[in-house]
Amino acid sequence: MLTLIGLGRTVGSRQNILCVSGLDPTGGAGIQADIEAIAAAGAHALPVITSLTVQNTTNVLLSEAVDASLIGRQIDALLADCRIDAVKIGLLGNAAQIGTIVPRIASLGVPIVCDPVLRAGGGTELATAELVGSMRQRLLPITTVLTPNAAEARRLVPATNPAASAAALLALGCMNVLITGGDEPGADVVNTWYTLRREPRAYRWPRLPETFHGAGCTLAAALAARLARGDEIGAAIEDAQHWTQATLQHAYAAGRGRRIPYRLDHG
Ligand code: PLP
Repeated sequence: MLTLIGLGRTVGSRQNILCVSGLDPTGGAGIQADIEAIAAAGAHALPVITSLTVQNTTNVLLSEAVDASLIGRQIDALLADCRIDAVKIGLLGNAAQIGTIVPRIASLGVPIVCDPVLRAGGGTELATAELVGSMRQRLLPITTVLTPNAAEARRLVPATNPAASAAALLALGCMNVLITGGDEPGADVVNTWYTLRREPRAYRWPRLPETFHGAGCTLAAALAARLARGDEIGAAIEDAQHWTQATLQHAYAAGRGRRIPYRLDHG
């Protein structure tokens, strides 16, 4: 006789990552980047959409925030059912969303990776001053790793250089800051990890000839998946960058603008 005993045993063995991100219909950035990067790491994404955007692979034309109370109900339904092993936060629609999200994730006791999406690669501003202020006051103090690019770090805290930005961001309470350098000039892309417990560590990657759409989301989601499975922070930061660099080396054109990281099977 066929027995069903034990069929439920593997439920919960895969890490669940709560992804609070925007929808990018090109599939390059936002929630699709999260889902693909997390699936590639063998984990499962729980996608909660903060904003519906209108965009192409060149720039964002519009970002329409989802109602904060709906986001709250979605997270509550997941928390009542699913074990959460990490949280990844990307594009946020407004300060009210932060007021809804932060109290729900603050006491989970899991890594929180926050990619502060303030401006699209194509130049469109994606965050008001009120939203940036709320991120500073409410989100950064509960963040395990913040992954701004250099311009986003400068917008979050006015400073004359990345080290000063990082010091100010750490003073606001986030535990680690990985400032990415893809948007800065130079033959190499230099990403630097800052934390209070050790000296800054710089990672140097050869700058690829193309430009990319969704690289930051890809890196932050890859990092969240590695922290969710218990990787040590330094190993997770290094491995997520290696993997993201490979997705950029295999990037493809879905449209006429920037290329999209290839996040699935790298063969
Ligand atoms: N749209 C969404 C939903 C995003 O999350 C992001 C970035 O994280 C962007 C657009 C912009 O991506 P990029 O700056 O790589 O073009």
